[in-house]
Amino acid sequence: MKIRTKLTLGVGLLFILITLLTYVGTKSINALKNDTENILVANYNTLEYSRNMLMALDELSIDKVAIRKIEENLYKQQANITEIGEKEATQNLRQHFAALKINNFDRTTHLLIRKDIAEIMRLNMEAIQRKSDVAKQTAASSTIGIAITGTLCFVIAFTLLINLPSNIANPIKKLTESIKQIAANDYSQRVYFEDHSEFGELAKSFNTMAEKLEEYNNSNLSQLLFEKKRIETLINNMQDPVIGLDEDKKILFANDEALKVTGLKSEQVIGQQVQDVSLVNDLVRSLVKDLIMPENNNKEEKKQPIKIFANSKESYFEKEVVDIAIMPTGEKEKRHIGYVIVLKNITPFKELDFAKTNFIATISHELKTPISSIKMSTQLLESQKTGEINHQQKQLIDSIKDDSQRLLKITSELLNLSQVETGNIQLNIQKSTPYQILNYATEAVKVTAEQKKIQLLSDVEENLPDVKADTEKTAWVLINFLTNAINYSPEQSKIIIKITKQDKLVNFSVNDQGKGIEKRYKDKIFDKYFQVPGSIKTGTGLGLAISKEFIEAQNGTIGVESEIGMGSTFYFKLLTS
Ligand code: ADP
Repeated sequence: MKIRTKLTLGVGLLFILITLLTYVGTKSINALKNDTENILVANYNTLEYSRNMLMALDELSIDKVAIRKIEENLYKQQANITEIGEKEATQNLRQHFAALKINNFDRTTHLLIRKDIAEIMRLNMEAIQRKSDVAKQTAASSTIGIAITGTLCFVIAFTLLINLPSNIANPIKKLTESIKQIAANDYSQRVYFEDHSEFGELAKSFNTMAEKLEEYNNSNLSQLLFEKKRIETLINNMQDPVIGLDEDKKILFANDEALKVTGLKSEQVIGQQVQDVSLVNDLVRSLVKDLIMPENNNKEEKKQPIKIFANSKESYFEKEVVDIAIMPTGEKEKRHIGYVIVLKNITPFKELDFAKTNFIATISHELKTPISSIKMSTQLLESQKTGEINHQQKQLIDSIKDDSQRLLKITSELLNLSQVETGNIQLNIQKSTPYQILNYATEAVKVTAEQKKIQLLSDVEENLPDVKADTEKTAWVLINFLTNAINYSPEQSKIIIKITKQDKLVNFSVNDQGKGIEKRYKDKIFDKYFQVPGSIKTGTGLGLAISKEFIEAQNGTIGVESEIGMGSTFYFKLLTS
């Protein structure tokens, strides 16, 4: 229970007790007052009338006024009859008084009157006695009532007096003692208050504080320094460059490798704001670009490995920025305390990749000549200049021709790929007319389309502007779109080539009636070697990847719109010249 509620209840209870006591006291006094008032009105007055009548009786012989006085008091007495027997006594008095007046103050009647008055007085005095006993009884029961209520109030008030202050003071005392202990370097002190009062919260905060103090106390300086040295040595011995920043982006540490690749000295780096260091060092700038300006976060760029020239050789690194958060002792929420930038050295993998690309380039280059010569030889054989060939031989020659054609396509794609991978795309960008690119491409695929009885339709705007492009490479892309469209379309279907102008762009698109591409593969098909699972594996999965590189190298954009069962539309857009 909250202290506030406890106090309110305690004081409220005392207030109720005071009200109760007042009520009981007032009620008892009232009862007593009623009893005494009764005596006064009912009996005391009668005694007064009787005394007046007796006095007047003594003066009767001398004064006529006395008769009136007796008359008056007798009337009053008749109106104040309160006791049993008083009525009869008063009636007797009235009769004897009347007789006295008639027989002219007879001595015997005189005596009878005195007797009547004495009787009335006796009755009233007895009543006074009785009523005073009743009053005594009322007084006694009031005393008991007040005593019981008083005792009850006393017990409750006493309980409150004992419990309430201790309830508030005890936790304070306990806390004060614990604080004193902590001041005396005893950090093992903890306080536990079971109830959910304000003290419960206070105890929780106190315990957290004590826990933290204990932790600080246990970690003595030499131990801390040793641990710091150990961690520094570990970081320094790491093969990968590592830079640590605090939450305000101040550089906390940079290992030897990091200093080596940045070419900076320790004193130029440690303790400096990373923003300041990035102003004088390009590498640091590219490392912390995302941290300083998170809004310019470019995903594409992030994936690119960083090329660094250090120790008289080129090395490749992959950057990883790790957010560091810790759970402070005794707390429940994590707190961000900085970043660690790790550069993973991927040079060996890059070298292997180069070796692979070079190997592919060499092989495909070397294969191109013999394959071309095989193709030429088959053409010679076909022309029958070297002698007649029979039907079976013709079939064999056709199959050799097809295979060499496929081999040529594959080797040319591999060559293109190796060019792309080594960054050696030789672009011959010039003013090219879209019609020329279209003719070049349609001519190249005409025969293949005819073989599948596919109609090639073109929907081309008139007066299209020229585009800034390498005609040959762009045509290669369009051919690749068309070849794919033919390959992945059913026989006797239609392929529509559309070329339109859109602002400062010319849009080339190829629409087919094939089975379409699932949404989840739309971006992936532009990746190297990717082929949609379940589709016919005629090619290498390189065509679209190379197309993307070619178009993007010409500052164009490439993409696909497709839905399963609705065919596909591959497009690329190039800038007008
Ligand atoms: P490939 O040599 O396999 O055709 P591409 O890079 O040209 O390689 O195409 C990658 C994959 O994209 C193909 O394997 C195919 O699954 C899918 N694809 C390309 N064009 C189409 C199309 N017009 N219709 C359906 N799927 C296509």
